Amino acid sequence: MRRSTGSRWVAWVMVSAAAAVLCVVSLGGQSDEGRYDQVVASISKKGLRELGAYATLAKLLAEGPRLTGSPQADAAVAAMAVHMRALGFENVRLEPTTVGHWIRGEGEEGQIVSPLAGTIPVKVRAIGNSIATPSQGITAGVVEVRTFQELETLGDKARGRIVFFNGAMDPTLIDAFQAYGGAARQRSGGAVAAAKAGGVAAVVRSLTLGIDDDPHTGTMSYDEGTPKIPAVTISTAAAERLSEVLRRDPEAKFRFRTSSRTLAPVTSHNVMGEIRGVKKPEEVILLGGHIDSWDLSPGAHDDGAGCAQSIEALRLIKDLGLKPKRTIRAVLFMDEENGGSGGRD
Ligand SMILES: [Zn+2]
Repeated sequence: MRRSTGSRWVAWVMVSAAAAVLCVVSLGGQSDEGRYDQVVASISKKGLRELGAYATLAKLLAEGPRLTGSPQADAAVAAMAVHMRALGFENVRLEPTTVGHWIRGEGEEGQIVSPLAGTIPVKVRAIGNSIATPSQGITAGVVEVRTFQELETLGDKARGRIVFFNGAMDPTLIDAFQAYGGAARQRSGGAVAAAKAGGVAAVVRSLTLGIDDDPHTGTMSYDEGTPKIPAVTISTAAAERLSEVLRRDPEAKFRFRTSSRTLAPVTSHNVMGEIRGVKKPEEVILLGGHIDSWDLSPGAHDDGAGCAQSIEALRLIKDLGLKPKRTIRAVLFMDEENGGSGGRD
C-alpha cells in the first residue's frame, strides 16, 4: 500500500547506488571526499538521464500479478534472470525456496440484504489463505465492530453472525504505514477473533485511507484449535454503506460466496545477480526487494519498485565502469506477501 513519487524513487536508486559504491570503491590517490563527490555525481547524472529502473519495472510488470505459486511468479523470476544476464551482471542464479500456494478461484460475490434498504451488490475479495464459503455461499446477520476489544465485550451477540470489522486507518497519523499497521490486525487475525466469538465469517474493511470501491486483499492466518471460517474484505465505500444500512436496519443480512483454495506448497526461487568485488569478493553488500505480489494488482510499488531499484543501482555502477572492492548483489526475494519464505530459506 505504500506510495512514492517518481522523483523520490529515482532519488532512492541514487542513494542505494551511491551508498554501495561509497562503501566499496577503491580510492586511489585522491582525498576520499573529492573522489566520492565525483562518483556520486556520475551515478546521479546517469540515473537521471536514463531512468533505467522504469524499464526494468516494465519488464517485471509485463508478467502480471505475481502471487507465490502462480505461473506468473515463475515467469517473473525467469524474466528477471534473463534481464540481469543481459545487463551483464555476474553469477546470475536462482535460489530455491518453498512457498505456499493459495488460489483465489472464481465467482466472488456479495450482497447486503435488507427489507428496508433493499438488496445492494457488494464486491468481496477473499483474504489470502482464507478458506472458501460453501458453494451456496454464507448468509447471516451482521455484527459490526471497530476494534478487537469491542468484539470481546459483545458476549454472545456475535454467535451465528458475520463479524464486520470496520476499523478505519487513523488519518491523523502522518506516517500512513503506522496507520496501516494499526488497522491490519483485523485483516490478518479477524477470522480467528470472529470464530472465537462464535461468528460464521469475517468481513473486513479494506486498508486504505481513501474512500473508494476497490476491495484489497492481503494475508491472514488461522489458529490450530479455532474453527476456520471464511474471511473477505470489502471496499471502504462498501464498508461505509454496510455500516449505514446496519444503523437503519440492525437485522440486515450479508450474503457472500468465495471459492479460494490452498494447494500443496511448491518450489519457487529467489533470483540474484552481482558485481564481484575486486579486493574482498567474499564480503557482500546486498540490495533487495521482493518479487512476489498479491494477485489483484501488478505490484508496481509493492514491491516491483524495490526490485527495479536494486537492479538499477547495480546497472549504474557497472555501466560506469566502477570497480567495487566488495561484491554488490541484487536479490529479488520470492515471497514476502504470503509467508516470507524467500528471505528465510
Ligand atoms: Zn510487500
